[in-house]
Formats: sequence, C-alpha cells, structure tokens
Amino acid sequence: MPRFNDAFLEELRARCDIEQIISGYVQLRRRGKNLVGLCPFHNEKTPSFTVYPEDQSPHFFCFGCGAGGDVISFIRRIENLDYVEAVRFLCERAGMTMPLDGVDDSMALKRRRIYEMNKEAARFFHDTLLSPAGEAGLSYYKMRGFNKRTITKFGLGYAPNSWNSLRDHLRQKGYSYEEQVEANLLQRSVKGDRTSYYDNFRGRVIVPIIDVRGNVVAFGGRVLDDSKPKYVNTADTPVYKKSLGVFGLNFAKNSKAQSLILVEGYMDAISLHQAGFDNAIACLGTALTGDMARLLMRYTDEVLLCYDADEAGQKATQKAIAVFSSVGAKLRVIRLSGGKDPDEILRKYGPERFRSLIEGAANDIEFKLLRARDGLDLHTDDGRMNYLNLAAEVLADVNNSIAADIYTSRLAETLGVDKQAIAARTEAIRKRKRAQAKKAEFQNLRQPLGGVSRAAAAAGMSLRAVKAQQRILALLYRNPDFLPELQKQNAGELFGDPACRRVFEAMRARIETGGNLDFTALSGELSQEELNLLVGVCQKDEALPGSRQELLDCVKTLQTEREKQQSKATQASALEGDAFRALFQRDETSHS
Ligand SMILES: [Zn+2]
Repeated sequence: MPRFNDAFLEELRARCDIEQIISGYVQLRRRGKNLVGLCPFHNEKTPSFTVYPEDQSPHFFCFGCGAGGDVISFIRRIENLDYVEAVRFLCERAGMTMPLDGVDDSMALKRRRIYEMNKEAARFFHDTLLSPAGEAGLSYYKMRGFNKRTITKFGLGYAPNSWNSLRDHLRQKGYSYEEQVEANLLQRSVKGDRTSYYDNFRGRVIVPIIDVRGNVVAFGGRVLDDSKPKYVNTADTPVYKKSLGVFGLNFAKNSKAQSLILVEGYMDAISLHQAGFDNAIACLGTALTGDMARLLMRYTDEVLLCYDADEAGQKATQKAIAVFSSVGAKLRVIRLSGGKDPDEILRKYGPERFRSLIEGAANDIEFKLLRARDGLDLHTDDGRMNYLNLAAEVLADVNNSIAADIYTSRLAETLGVDKQAIAARTEAIRKRKRAQAKKAEFQNLRQPLGGVSRAAAAAGMSLRAVKAQQRILALLYRNPDFLPELQKQNAGELFGDPACRRVFEAMRARIETGGNLDFTALSGELSQEELNLLVGVCQKDEALPGSRQELLDCVKTLQTEREKQQSKATQASALEGDAFRALFQRDETSHS
C-alpha cells in the first residue's frame, strides 16, 4: 500500500473541499451543518447520503448502503479508480504535484500506456480509411450519409481485412503483443505449443469510443454488409468497462440541450449529431444497468429514450424505463413513427420531423399507459377491465399526486368508468407495492447496518460482542490516548471480527508512529469495506464523547464473551465425553 506523508495529505484535504467535490456528482441540499443528497452508490428515492464538511475529519456517509469515507475514497468509488489514481485525480484538480517516491504506480502506468496505444490505433484506423486500402469503409460511410466533417469529428476509421496490419503497426511503435492483447486490440490463439496473435478488428468500419476526459477507451467495429457478428466491440480492459461504455458523451456533455438523447447504436448517434442533435449518445453495454443510468444522470437532468421501433427496441424501452425510474431519473420516450430508427427518420423526413418527435415525446407514464393498452379491445368489457387493471398498476407508481389525478381523470374518460373507482383500485395496489418495497428495503439494509459481518456471524459472535468491538474503534478514533489502556488489556486479541481487527491494527500503527487518525490518513491503509466500517461506527456514536470507563466496559464485554465461548467449548467436549460413557454403559448392560 502506498504511503503519502501526512503533510501532503493534509494539504490535499485542505485544497479539495469535500463539499465542492461531491457537489460535482451529487445534488446536495443543506441540512444544518451537513448536506444531504441521493446516494450515488445505491438506488434510493429519499436522500440518506450525508456529507459532513465541518467534521474534524470531513467525510461522507450513506445511511442506506453504509458507504462512507473521505474525499479520496469518494473519488475512488465514483470514478472507479485505485487509490493512487484517485490521489492523482484530486492533485490535478487542485493544481498540486503528487510526490512520486514510494508510490506503486504500476496500474496507473499501465492505463496510461493503453490510452496511448488506443490513440495510436485510432490514428491508424483513421489513416487507413483515407488511404486506398480504406475505400470500402469510406463508401460505407458515404452510403450512411456521413460527410467529411463528421468523419473527422468522430475520428471514424476502417480496419483493413487483414490478420496483422494493426498488430505490426503497433509493434513497430513499440507495443508488445501482450500489451496489445491487454488492450483487446489483439487476440491470442494457442494451438498445441504454438501461440499466434491476430487483429481483433478486421474488415470493419471502426468507431472510437472516447470518454469525457478525451481518452480513447475502446472501439466499436461494424461489418459493411449483413454478415455476422454485426458488431465487434472492445471487451473489458484496464481502462474500459463495457457495461459503462457510452458513445458520444464526450461531445454531448458540452451540448446546450438540457437532455441526452439515448439511441441504440453509435451509427444512429452519429447521424443525429450530423443533423444538429449534439446531445445524442449510445450505450454499448447489452443491457442498461443502474450504474449506467447513474453515470448518465451526472451529465443531464432528463433522458430522451429513442430505441428502435421494432419489438426488440420496445422491450428494451420498457426495461430502460424501469432502470431509469429506479434511480430517480426524469425520462421521456420518443415514439418513432414513419421509420424504424432515428437514422431512417432523418433521411426520409429531415431533422425537423425528428425535432417534432422530441417535442411530442411521451413521459414515462404516458408511454407505459400506451403500452398497457396495446392489443386490448376497449370496445369489450373484458378489454376495458384488463386495461383498467394494467393502468392502475402504472398509476400506482406515480408519486406526484397532481400528475396521478390528471391521468386518473383521463383514464376515467377513456374507459367511461367512475374516477373514484380507479383511484380506489390504484390506492390498493400502491399499498401493496409500498409494503413490498419496505420489506425489500429492510432486507437490503440489514446487512451493512446491522453491523455483524458475515465473518463475525460465522465465528458465532453475538451482536453484543460485535457492537462492543465497533464501539471500541469509535472511542479510540475520538480518543487516541486510550490506546495504552487498550494495550494493557490486550484488547488486540479480543477483536474476533476480522474487519474490526484490521481497522484496529491500522489505527494502532498510526497512533504509535505519531500520526493522526483522520479518514484521509487512514484511507490509504484500509480497504473500502474497512473504511466504510470505521466511518459507519464513528457516525453512530458521533454524539457521544465516550469515557475511559465505557472503554473498559466494552473490553469487559469482550472478555466475558470470550470466557463464555471457551466454557461453551469445554462443556461441549465434556458432554461429548458423558454421551460417550453413557453409550458404553448401555453396551455393558446389554451384555450382562
Ligand atoms: Zn448509499
């Protein structure tokens, strides 16, 4: 684990105001001395994510999922970086230089090397496109209607139909085969004792995927005809997680539009950009996840969903609605009419038509109501009854009471039934859903907040004992001068919960070397989970000052617990002996 000196960390903390940094990712509202917002690390609708900027050790803590830590660990999580990279990220923001001695930088170096390699590959693909070898690619882009400016802006390219063009080019630039495999530009094939390497992208048009910081992180490759597989995209690499892959966000994040238009494929997104919709993006992951939705919510207030008009696209739309609403995103759905995808609409009718489709985009409730109605005949009683039930399910999810009232009125009119009857049906469903949600939430929350780790539970530790261990950590955090007392009681031995023990050891080491105990100093020495634990326990006991007597009580609890366990163990073996003897005696009697 790398160690930065305290003076450096102190300055980093002073220059990277936790409130300011977190505000860049989470919308925070002031609540007294603290700030609250919706947690970026789990799904929630009421804010339990809290920032404590004025604490002696400024930190965040989520009462929902138990995530907690200092500004460095926040950046680690949200930007998906390792510890050193997070420190570098903050240094760059604050205009500080990171001390390099003693830092394990291998992962960061590897990533930088892949970025460089990807950039070189992107240049190769683009140059190839504009050379005679790229003719097929160029005519494909022309067929799609992409102009020269678009091709340059997106750095579009072409991978020649060859097994080794890129490989040899990168080799000549100093990148080994193994490095190229790691960037997923090269495939390795092992046959018997012969290993060969060949280009991953062959005979395809190539779209580079560029992240919001301008790094080429991955590539998308599409065939020119109808052969399979239609798309080959970069798999996970040290710089890319395909479930979080977004095309076009580097441009869309600067758009003046307040929304993002999410389409199915990168070619559609490019067509939209060329037509003036510079807020179009495409996801590369197969299924939209909550993580992806949360990532997008960092750049926009509203997502306009525009999947293909076919059945697959409509199914994907319904799934996406569920994902987006689970993270509290504002969403509207563009219903394509007159064409199967955005590209076709633009070609057939031009940008104006698409603009009017955006304006007429249904919000998620309207879309769900329309879907519920699909295939039902509202002229029959059966059809109306079915529609009412499905629609009530939709309305039960509407939290805004004015909106709910409007849709209920509309529905009453459409169905020709009493509005009160619909409202009653909706309310019953809402109650059922709320009960289910509460139950699910309770089950989710028990794990991190109950405080008993799996390891502790497996060791047969009581909740009382685990709480005592956590309390000791909190007391020690607030009163480092309690350490000698703990050492005298041999307290290190009493930590039965391995996570508590590791936190204790890290704190002990800091105190013994004269270091302070703030979370920033400790975040380099603890895993994410251990830091969560420490921040969590300090949180719970924040209001209490804690006394030496209380510390001794906790130690006593642990000692008693230990004795109990030991005597239980002796009892168990004694019982075993008795039972054995009893068996033996019975044997004797039967013999006599
Ligand atoms: Zn959370």
